[in-house]
Amino acid sequence: MKFKMFSVVVGTEACIASCPFCVSGVKPNKENLQEININWRNLKIAGNLANRSDIDTVMLTSRGEPTLFPNQITEYLKHLKEFRFPFVELQSNCIPIALNKEKYENYLKEWYNEGLTTITISVVSHIPEVNKKVYMPQNKSYIDLPDLIKYLHGFGFSLRLTCVCCKDMMDTPEKVDEFIKFAKQNKVEQVTLRPVNDEFRRQSATDWIKENRLTDNEKEKIKEYLENNGTKLLELERIGTIYDVNGQNVCISLPLNKNTRDTSPENARNLIFFQDGHIRYEWEMEGGILL
Ligand code: SF4
Repeated sequence: MKFKMFSVVVGTEACIASCPFCVSGVKPNKENLQEININWRNLKIAGNLANRSDIDTVMLTSRGEPTLFPNQITEYLKHLKEFRFPFVELQSNCIPIALNKEKYENYLKEWYNEGLTTITISVVSHIPEVNKKVYMPQNKSYIDLPDLIKYLHGFGFSLRLTCVCCKDMMDTPEKVDEFIKFAKQNKVEQVTLRPVNDEFRRQSATDWIKENRLTDNEKEKIKEYLENNGTKLLELERIGTIYDVNGQNVCISLPLNKNTRDTSPENARNLIFFQDGHIRYEWEMEGGILL
């Protein structure tokens, strides 16, 4: 089998945010803050399989917020080194880091030294009030995003702002244009626009998504804006299209759903390692399992 991406699951479903579109959305508690032991033998098997697919990026990701488990991130980075992936990415809302820089300072240094290249910051907008509504509705304000970007750049990380596009948040070419300008001003290396995925959600998320997903027309207008204002750089099959928009890298990604599935074993999308040693090629369909 051949895969395009390699995802490694960190932590649990615990997250300090509670996004209405989240697959899990579980608040941290005593149980879910317990680290799950990692099956290192099977990580080796998954890593070797990823190498055989010539995968260039491994993504540390989670069903919740991975930075709630900083020691596990360090351990993974140490073990992943032997596979020599050129790009090692961490997907996070980065809220725990922004709220407690003292705690994360040494971790971030260590992660950089252990090979982490890129931090992908999840947002729904560049506007603090809009992000606050989704990520931190109980707090007085959202984190200082420009300050966080500067802080993470200071360690040497490359950054990607990944925007989950929802109704009234990131649904027009004008808002996308402002978002791209914000990224450029803050020297963010990459931007991903990902229309909120409307499949395989817990019931409350399904209802919210039905109300708040982009229409086909809205998606089309955003695509048109990128076509007219950018230069198409790369077409990544079943992943998305990358543009240069006034010097800013922008990817419009395809949602992970049945339409992006290819049943050819030579063209599988995602190789996913779970801490208990299971290796899967589907996030949601339990039958998509190798080990
Ligand atoms: S930040 Fe991510 S994991 Fe946390 S609630 Fe939002 S979507 Fe879920």
